[in-house]
Amino acid sequence: MQVPILTYHGVNIAGNDYAGNDHVAFAADLELIHALGLRIVPVQWVVDQLLGRAQRDLRRCVALTCDDGSNFDYDDLDHPEHGRQLSFYNALRRFRERHGERAQPDLHLTSFVIADPVARKRMDEQCLVGRDWMQSRWWRAALDSGLVAIENHSWDHNHPCLTDTGPHGLVRGDFHAVANEAQAEFEITQAQHFLAQQLAPRAPRLFCYPFGHVNDFLRADWLPRRGPAVGLDAAFGDGACRVTARSDRWNLPRYICGWHWRSPEALNSILTA
Ligand SMILES: [Zn+2]
Repeated sequence: MQVPILTYHGVNIAGNDYAGNDHVAFAADLELIHALGLRIVPVQWVVDQLLGRAQRDLRRCVALTCDDGSNFDYDDLDHPEHGRQLSFYNALRRFRERHGERAQPDLHLTSFVIADPVARKRMDEQCLVGRDWMQSRWWRAALDSGLVAIENHSWDHNHPCLTDTGPHGLVRGDFHAVANEAQAEFEITQAQHFLAQQLAPRAPRLFCYPFGHVNDFLRADWLPRRGPAVGLDAAFGDGACRVTARSDRWNLPRYICGWHWRSPEALNSILTA
């Protein structure tokens, strides 16, 4: 198995060209992946293969994820500076309309969302445009479409906009700080429970590290010990290489749009290397 996993951020809208807008990039990349004759598959398939739970043919496959879970993932929205933005979800639907269902029969995107409604509201006000665009109301519809999975991107991202010190002495601002038992339960287990309630009967099975911050406590101790008990199969970082049979289940690598590639040519190189 050698599967590249690509990651987008719906809030990356600095203009309307490929390099500064993950929505423009995402829609273009669907076409590029398809033109290269690659198959898009759910990222859960990659995890199932890694854990020996499935034996699918994953040659020439790619998996897609997106982080932070703003409404830009699901709804087309009018950005105050850059105008109408095509959501990731609608880009998938538009691709389907253009090419037909058989073109990419397993077309899929995994959206890693932030659980805590209070933290989401704070991020919306301080980091987005304060239009209540960090809601959870689209999660169910996205899931029911069969095109999108909703997974765990922590309780509150331990985001710098949370200025108060968190519970259990948690210093805000980066995810390396989540380094003891109580802090991990607060950030990861609590999000598992909240998302399971929201998405029932489905439960989240995948975690992705906020900011790509992977520390040894979570990766090598807490997640191996507690991950399966709280329903987690794997965790994702930003290692910028393909997932293989030898990848670390608790730090699976991904390529990040706008960081590891900023043009269709650069993505082409990643996908065909
Ligand atoms: Zn994030």
